[in-house]
Amino acid sequence: VELTELGDAEVTDVLFACKARVLDLRNDQRFRYILLFKNHGSAAGATLEHSHSQVIALPITPRQVADEIEGARRHHDHRERCIFCDIVGQERKDRSRLVYENEEFVVFAPWAPRSPFETWILPKRHESNFEAEPRERLAFAAQALRSTLRRLNSALGRPAYNYMVHTNPLRDASSPSYHWHIEVVPALTQVAGFEWASGFYINPVPPEEAAEFLRKAAV
Ligand SMILES: [Zn+2]
Ligand SMILES: [Zn+2]
Repeated sequence: VELTELGDAEVTDVLFACKARVLDLRNDQRFRYILLFKNHGSAAGATLEHSHSQVIALPITPRQVADEIEGARRHHDHRERCIFCDIVGQERKDRSRLVYENEEFVVFAPWAPRSPFETWILPKRHESNFEAEPRERLAFAAQALRSTLRRLNSALGRPAYNYMVHTNPLRDASSPSYHWHIEVVPALTQVAGFEWASGFYINPVPPEEAAEFLRKAAV
């Protein structure tokens, strides 16, 4: 059974199980960061046949997350606002990159996606820590995640994909400048010499086109 074939309640259980693991691993003082992610399909690095999510506890905060947190902190220093809250407001107003929204979550193609059809899922209400979300709100996150993956499936013919949760590091108190989110990246392009050499990504699909395609996709 694939994640997209589960109902909203079952996907909520998956996210709630992830939260429970984070809360438990937080008790181990060695860990600084818990990476939550999913690899679906062999092109996205999945090595098990059955559908699964992964939880990896790390003794440091990964560089990519630390950079994102630092960028958000600088924005907050200047403007006294959370950049992610600003983005949520902008994308809901502009709507050209919007894919889906429900009461609590918004799904959109980010302004500068690294990969075609990269899609982000953000809580509308500010929250820095994934594990702080109550089950009621995780239910809306599950609805948004399931809708996103089903749209990718129908628009792109069931691609391999990865998604990862970006959240505040374990030992850090709740932050006014960082905002947890899920990044979904279908495995449509290959990372090759140019990307390895530069850290730049070549993406032939503008986010507005990707968003329109996903918005109209059958769910
Ligand atoms: Zn925020
Ligand atoms: Zn992120």
